[in-house]
Amino acid sequence: MATKGFNAFEMAQRQFDKVADLLELDQGTRDLLRDAQREYQFLIPVRMDDGHVQVFKGFRVQHNDARGPSKGGIRFHPQETVDTVRALAMWMTWKCAVVDIPLGGGKGGVICDPHHLSMREQEQICRGWIRQIARNIGELSDVPAPDVMTTPQHMIWMLDEYEAMHGHSHHPGLITGKPVGMGGSLGRTEATGYGVVYTLREALKTLGMSPDGTSASVQGFGNVAQYAIQLYTKIGGKVIAVSCWDQADQTSYTFRRASGIDFQELMGITDKFGSIDKTKAKGIGFELLPGDAWLEQEVDILIPAAIENQIRGDNAGKIAARVRVVAEGANGPTTPEADEILKQKTIFVIPDFLANAGGVTCSYFEQVQSNMNYYWERDEVLSKLDQKMTSAFHAVHDVSHRQKLIMRDAAYVVAINRVARACRDRGWV
Ligand code: NAD
Repeated sequence: MATKGFNAFEMAQRQFDKVADLLELDQGTRDLLRDAQREYQFLIPVRMDDGHVQVFKGFRVQHNDARGPSKGGIRFHPQETVDTVRALAMWMTWKCAVVDIPLGGGKGGVICDPHHLSMREQEQICRGWIRQIARNIGELSDVPAPDVMTTPQHMIWMLDEYEAMHGHSHHPGLITGKPVGMGGSLGRTEATGYGVVYTLREALKTLGMSPDGTSASVQGFGNVAQYAIQLYTKIGGKVIAVSCWDQADQTSYTFRRASGIDFQELMGITDKFGSIDKTKAKGIGFELLPGDAWLEQEVDILIPAAIENQIRGDNAGKIAARVRVVAEGANGPTTPEADEILKQKTIFVIPDFLANAGGVTCSYFEQVQSNMNYYWERDEVLSKLDQKMTSAFHAVHDVSHRQKLIMRDAAYVVAINRVARACRDRGWV
């Protein structure tokens, strides 16, 4: 989605260029990797509940598939733009490469606001999206998944439409994030948030800190934030502040309670979009602060897990001296200007495409299970996930240590090297 004056794709390209220079990549490889291999933009006409036809704009971008089928979510958002989708597709390529799963990068979206759409209207958008893009996706070419404001229900409508178009044959590997029991994987719901905490746990180890007794402030209380908070609390941490969007007031608020949040209690007063009820929160002892206050808390760890462009040159200076780690649950929450400030503050950043790679890793597990038609137990999924995230963290940390790079640059070095090698091996460059 777009934030005023900010272009996520330009930022993704700037990040890429910096590492391409560092790796001394040849011009052909640069030209291939700093843009998307394929892009689709299309219109989805939907007959709305009141009888009129509304036309929605849809996107699918396949950034690079040298290492395997493109993989990436579909976002429903009123401010979605093709540049945001391009940036996210590129980040997916690096994300799959950094955790070393055999997939490329893709992303999709529809400009729409599910807050103002009935379930029937949303189903029509899902089916329309598939009808427009079906010939360009598939279990061997491009595998979509849920993302911001899309759910397992949306995925199963999409799968059903695809299968209906293909003679009702079954293609469970087409799409991931399906409901459990309908081709979904156990552990997928919690995978991204848990993955953030697996990497956070390893980061704390390298800093000689134990999670016990640490505190955190989190932006967002949706899928990623909720499970990150659940696991972080389980391993001994305390979350004292959470910020989220308030649909009625069209602004965000930070909810703070010095004694820490009780995950179940907060879940009980949160809607399906991850918005916390203000009145009920005050009733259980939360202070209500401005949306940006989550960033200024006296904590050890910050977890941005909402949207992009949240830690910037203009506000990174407000981060408390006590903060040691930023674990990026969201995609693109930190700008390059803010990265410089975090570096000066010697804050250890676990970059987005490493920290939040748990989702795509588990999606990959789901795809493997769907293609085999044999499903694993939750513990097996989560322990495989922990292994993948832990070894990805250490591969990046080793490069960061050896080449004296910040973790984001080190993660790019690992990922871009792997993708460039695949392009070379295929004879593309
Ligand atoms: P979600 O829709 O479930 O939750 C988003 C949360 O962010 C909600 O609590 C919402 O209130 C909050 N929010 C929105 N705007 C805000 C603002 N301006 N200030 C404060 N809070 C705000 O989304 P999600 O699935 O949790 O995804 C969050 C981020 O993580 C996104 O950047 C997404 O691309 C990224 N991500 C998600 C996954 C996944 O598996 N869900 C995987 C990788 C990355």
